[in-house]
Amino acid sequence: MKLPPFTCKAGCSARCSAGPVPFSNGERERIDVTFPDLEWLPWGDEWLLLEAVKTFRCPLLVDGRCSAHEIRPMACRLYGVVDAPQMRCKRGGKPSRLISEAEARRLMRRRED
Ligand code: SF4
Repeated sequence: MKLPPFTCKAGCSARCSAGPVPFSNGERERIDVTFPDLEWLPWGDEWLLLEAVKTFRCPLLVDGRCSAHEIRPMACRLYGVVDAPQMRCKRGGKPSRLISEAEARRLMRRRED
């Protein structure tokens, strides 16, 4: 299943300042290639960015934009497209269709490692 296309409103960082997002091992490895100096905290089988845990703001957010947009994790890609109050775009952005929470959970499980 592919995610419905969804374009965030320019300059919106609602997801990025709402607490840490989980990264799978593969998602972390991709980020580490470009951003090798980030500090990570293990969280079950996943990883959290230490600064996001401490400040509730993702350190990859630079000048109001995601500096890792092309390689951002699934948890970020799901924001705005899941039919759940906490995942809806707060600026009225809408994808072509919303996916269910069950579909979102399946996509999270299917991430590489
Ligand atoms: S990885 Fe990018 S989109 Fe995800 S929370 Fe961090 S800055 Fe925001």
